[in-house]
Formats: sequence, structure tokens, C-alpha cells
Amino acid sequence: MQRKVLIDFKDKSLFDYNVPDDLEVGAIVEVPFGRQKRQGIVTDYKIDTLLEKLKIKDIYGQIDDFALPKVSYDFLRWFCDYNMAPMGQALKMFVPSNVLKKTKLEFETPNFHDVTLSQTQKDAYNALILDNGFKVNVLNGVTGSGKTEVYFKAIDEVLKQGKQVLVMLPEIALTSQFEIRFKQRFEVNPLLWHSEIGLKDKKKIYQGVMKGKVNIIAGARSGLFLPFNDLGLIIIDEEHDHSYKQEDGITYQARDMAITRAYLGDIPIILSTATPSLETIANVRLEKYHEVKMLSRYKNASMPDIKVIDLRENKIVKLEKGDGSSISTELLSELKKNLEQGEQSLLFLNRRGYAPITLCKACGEKVLCPDCSVALVYHKETGCHHCHLCGNKLILSQKCKHCGEEGAMISVGCGVEKLQDAVKELLPEARILTISADNFSRKQAGELFSKILNQEVDIIIGTQILAKGHHFPNLTLVGVIDADLGVNVDLRSSERTYQLLEQVSGRAGRGDKKGRVYLQSYNTNHPVIKSLVNRDIDGFINNELKSREMLHMPPYGRLAGLVISGLNEQKVMELSENIVRVAKKYQKVIEVFGPIPALIFRLKTKYRFRVLMKSKKDIKLQKVISDILKEINIPSSLKIKIDIDPYNFM
Ligand code: ADP
Ligand code: ZN
Repeated sequence: MQRKVLIDFKDKSLFDYNVPDDLEVGAIVEVPFGRQKRQGIVTDYKIDTLLEKLKIKDIYGQIDDFALPKVSYDFLRWFCDYNMAPMGQALKMFVPSNVLKKTKLEFETPNFHDVTLSQTQKDAYNALILDNGFKVNVLNGVTGSGKTEVYFKAIDEVLKQGKQVLVMLPEIALTSQFEIRFKQRFEVNPLLWHSEIGLKDKKKIYQGVMKGKVNIIAGARSGLFLPFNDLGLIIIDEEHDHSYKQEDGITYQARDMAITRAYLGDIPIILSTATPSLETIANVRLEKYHEVKMLSRYKNASMPDIKVIDLRENKIVKLEKGDGSSISTELLSELKKNLEQGEQSLLFLNRRGYAPITLCKACGEKVLCPDCSVALVYHKETGCHHCHLCGNKLILSQKCKHCGEEGAMISVGCGVEKLQDAVKELLPEARILTISADNFSRKQAGELFSKILNQEVDIIIGTQILAKGHHFPNLTLVGVIDADLGVNVDLRSSERTYQLLEQVSGRAGRGDKKGRVYLQSYNTNHPVIKSLVNRDIDGFINNELKSREMLHMPPYGRLAGLVISGLNEQKVMELSENIVRVAKKYQKVIEVFGPIPALIFRLKTKYRFRVLMKSKKDIKLQKVISDILKEINIPSSLKIKIDIDPYNFM
């Protein structure tokens, strides 16, 4: 039988071969390729020209008995189609390199220990629809309502039927607490799948999943591409989390892809969250998704009181050197109270480093990364100025490059390191732990968290790493240093800020004692702040949905972003203009915006322009884009990145 075999090779990926008749689509094979031997998978694409047939080579054969299950293959096809991804590149995600060398497949079997569920949990569990093929269940429970135990029970049910389960977690950093709880419930450590696992485990897990020897995996986004033969349930923990959107390489929204994977496998999926995304809420309202609510916390712990501190009225405490501390008098007195009572506090500030901006006090010029158009951030820990986009680390001279003034460079604004210095000065007796992406690795996570759980820390200062998922029973006070940070930037900023603040607030008072949350803000009338304080979440969501509907924005319309980049600014601009010119021909079905210089105009030395396309829901935007691009000659020195359902507009 003649078939095209999918191989990862430059721009082209489908090549013609003779394949034995008994090999099914999805079989992983070795083929002669020029003088090389290559791996590929048998596709359902037939060879089109009769003439070519004579020259067609035979494949060497299947590698052991490895094959992508039919459903994984279908998913691969669909995935590439939806995300406009080159199939060769996607192949690497579905069959990572080096995972096919034979290895011993021995695994521990999970053994479920029942826990007594609260009435709320029982009701929620019973309301899930798990036995009717494809079904999107939205487990919408307030922070601390005990959602994990509910989905653990669902997992147990599915495992008992001999089927496989995939749990997706937004940031693998979060798994440390997940792992502990998983072990308590299932006796064994969960098998993890993410970019940091070693090749040995990778091989073992990949083959174990394919051979049906692994029945449960906790994974990052890439867990979706594992070759499950008999997947029976997918869980998406914290479904609203924006880290489900993969930005590097092929862009895709892993939550959305997981829903399609469940659809193709005709299995249930559970989206678990305290702050559902607007996309999910809209689908619940359309009755496409089945919602199960949990309105109270486990053991009836009460929800925290949320109060806003108006920074226009409440003074920021001054430090000895005369600098502002970023902490208001009211928040400081609450921190003192907590210290006296031996309770823990969390100060949330979503800014890494010491100071976000460095400028010359003589001429006012900001210091940017030499390769990116973004301000360098001073980090005290390293003594360097860091670019958070490209990773550049520089030691700046005290002389301004712009005006030549000596000793004129000053750093302004406040990051977690500066906040830590301020807290040290104001509360010298407090034991402080600062956690941000700069000092937090998966390996350390367990140690840092046990410090908190063992009461070796009074005040935790943290970025968003600490905002979600964690359960620290003695933490009763949360102070948000800058609640305005992040609003009014793009389509989803209100939603994102609301979710983040609700999640970080949800860390307070999860034990026996009631929690208090203080939001410091200059913009106390902002709808996000108001709805959080008044606990009027529905009001906020309704308004937000209404405005999106009016503008035909997601979830009511489709968006696709194109980022055109290259080293030659002029050429990048010309190509961008060309795209828009062609796109305007399709104005009956799409709206075109741009080209505009991207907010991050230079990234890793490349210039960037953006084009945005919008269409109604019933239009296949991908098809329109590919028609447009067919008309355009793309120089090899330039790159067009297509982002379907964009989350990042920088
Ligand atoms: P959520 O994910 O909804 O924010 P969690 O699942 O983290 O809430 O649960 C909050 C805390 O309550 C956890 O420490 C968990 O161990 C505990 N908990 C929840 N349900 C039970 C239960 N049925 N039995 C014992 N402890 C529970
Ligand atoms: Zn940079």
C-alpha cells in the first residue's frame, strides 16, 4: 500500500513510501531518507500521482510494535489544523525524540484510600456526569472548598474501570502539594510528565502509557500528546490559568485542546476552578458545559473578608532613608497584629527583582535591554540588570549612556526584593521568606513549603507563584501591594486581574481562623476591585461578558494574531503591510487590524509587527488566514507566527 509518511523535515513533512498492508495509520516506522534512516508515522494521506509510484521506496519497518493510537493520530491531525501548525513540528510533540528505545516497564499500582467527603463534596461528586461519553464538567468551587478530593474520587472510579486518567496542572511548580496529597490518597507517587523529567523516566512513562501499563499521569500541557490507548478521564486543574496557553513554538491553548482530546476519545473531562474563565462561563450558559458548584469551604471555614485600602487616603509608611515602603499604615498595623498573634501573612506583589525601572536622573532616559525594547529590571540578589524577556544579564555603569552624566542612574518602582528590605526594616523581628521565579525551582518547592507549613516563617512575600493552589492553614492575612497592577492592558486583563486577586485572596483563612485580605489601590472604583470587595462576582462577569459581546470579542467572536518578525525593520514592515493589503480582500468575513509595531517592538534583536484578525464564531478563521498567506511571498529571513485565540498581545 502506498502512503505518505509523516517525517519532521524542514518545511515539508509528508513523504511517499510503500507501507506493508497490515500496518495501520499511526504506526511508528523507520524509513530510508536520502542516505539517512529516519523515524516517521504512517498517515492516512494517500499518494496522489500515479507516475511517482515506481520510484517509491519501501519503509524499513515498524519500530517494535510502537504506534500512535487512532485517537492520538486523529488528535494530531486536528491539532495541526486548528493551530495552523506544521505537522512535522507537531510530530516532535507526539513522538518526542529518544523515547522509543526499549526499556523495562514496571510501575507501582495506585491503591485508593477512601476519605469521608463532606456533604458539599458528596453532592458535587454525585452531580458530575462521568458515564455518558464526552461531557465537559465544570467543577466550580470556591477556594478551599475541597475540589481536589472530589476529582480524586472521580479518578478512582475511572481507574477501577481499568481506564487511564490524565490530570493537567497549570504550573508544575504547584505539583509539590499535589504530589503529597496524591500520595496520601493513592499510596504511590504520581507519575509526572513535564519538560524537566529525565530521559530515562520519559522513555518509561511514554512507553508505559502507550502499552497501557501506566494508568494515571499528572502532567503539564505536553501531557496531552501522550499516546493514551484507553484514556477514560481528563482533569484540568485551575482551568482558568493562563499558563495553559503555550506561547513558545507552536502556540496552543492546552485547556481547549484537552476538551477536543476528550471529545475525540468520547470521554468526560472535568475543569476544576474557583474562578472560571469567561470562555467556560459562556459555554455553561449556553448549556454546552455541565456546571457543578461548591459554594462553601471544606469544614465550613469562612471566606475571607476583603477590604480595599485607598492609597490616595492611606499613607505609605516611610523608611529611614526617606523612601516609601509600598506598605500602607493600615496594612502595616495588620501585619503587626498577625505577628503578635503568631499567624502568618502573605504579601503579594507580582514583580520580580528589586526595581522594575532604571533611569538617568539628569536626562530621564530609561535603560532598555540592548536586544529588546523593554526596561531592564535591577536584581539585588545578582547585582545585575536583567531582561525578563530574553534573559540578558548586564552590569550597568553609573554613567548615563544617553547624556553622559556620571553617577546619575537611579532605580525606581518596587519589586519583591525591595519589598523584602522594607519589611525587614519595619518589622525586624519577623521571619521573612520571599518566593519568586528567581529563587524557586521544583526541587526546592517542597522544602520552602514545609518551612511555611512548619511555622518557620511569619511573612511570605511572593509573586504569582504563590497566588494559586497552595494550602497554608495558619495563613490568615493577605496584603496585595499593588492591586492595580495589570488592569487595563489587553482584552483579558480585567478577567486575569480578577482571577489572580480572587485566587490570592483565597489563600487567607483556610484553617480554623478567619482570613483578612487588604487590596492596596489607587483606583478603588475599578470594576474588578469593586466586585471583589462587594463579593459581586456575577455582576463583574455579566458586565465583562456584555462588553465582549458588544465588541464581538472572544468568547463571542474569533481572534487570531499574526506576529511578523525579522532583523530588517523595513522588510518586516513591508511584509506586514502586504499581509494586511491582501487580508482586506476578505473583509466580508474578517476584520483586520494593523499592522502596528508590537508593544515589544524588538525582541531578541528582531523587529516585530502585529496584525490582528477578527471574525464571527461560525467562520473558519484558519482557512481564511491560510488563503491569505498563500497569496504572499514570505522571504526566508522573516517569520510569521500565527496565534489562534491569542492571550498575549505584546
Ligand atoms: P480547593 O482545591 O477547592 O481550593 P482543596 O482541595 O485544596 O480546596 O481543599 C482544602 C483543604 O481541605 C485541603 O487541605 C484538603 O486536604 C482538605 N480537605 C478537603 N476535603 C477533605 C476531606 N474530605 N477530608 C479531609 N480533608 C479534606
Ligand atoms: Zn532582552
